[in-house]
Amino acid sequence: MAVVWYGGAPDNRGMLWEAFENALMPLRCVFCGVRTCERERYICSGCNEDLRHAAPPPPAPPLEFELTPLAFEFPLDEAIKAFKFRRRLFYGPALAQILCDACEVLPDDIDAVLPVPLHWRRRWFRGFNQAREIGAPVARKLGVPLVREVRKRRATPHQSELEYRQRVRNLRAAFIVRSALRYQHVLIVDDVITTGTTARELARILLAAGVAKVSAIAIARA
Ligand SMILES: [Zn+2]
Repeated sequence: MAVVWYGGAPDNRGMLWEAFENALMPLRCVFCGVRTCERERYICSGCNEDLRHAAPPPPAPPLEFELTPLAFEFPLDEAIKAFKFRRRLFYGPALAQILCDACEVLPDDIDAVLPVPLHWRRRWFRGFNQAREIGAPVARKLGVPLVREVRKRRATPHQSELEYRQRVRNLRAAFIVRSALRYQHVLIVDDVITTGTTARELARILLAAGVAKVSAIAIARA
């Protein structure tokens, strides 16, 4: 295979490198394994059609928008669990692609992205923060920075294991903002939104720190 260097603008270099990489290691659909074309990338059009789209939930204050484009069902649920708990990192770009596509409908005043922070201990055990893996591509796509001033200061039990009231209590004072924030509209990114307690708690502290508006996006609602 001949690689031709066209010598175009720096932007072309990324595209050319991608094409080169694609020729060496063709992309396959993460769900069914078929070779995908350049437009499809990580999810083939057949599987993409099979993923069930979920109706948008009613707006839940203090969140401006809440976007969870897909239903949390097979094969997406298994993919998310494998990515998160069994380190199947190859799902990451596919899951990020779903979020990036969904971002098209968001208002254009978003000026920062906050992947839901993970406590350092859990991050250390897991080796990565799944929300950051899928949130960073969203920030790149929107051309905005990641919010780095928010930390999770105590390790809390998994929200999914708790009753509603316990969830709220569980998260109280779990996150901390380390300085005043001057963003217009922050987009919180998580892999799955269950009851939305985490997103609302983060929205509350972001608004208290000076952010004007907060929205949230996740791949699916469980
Ligand atoms: Zn497929």
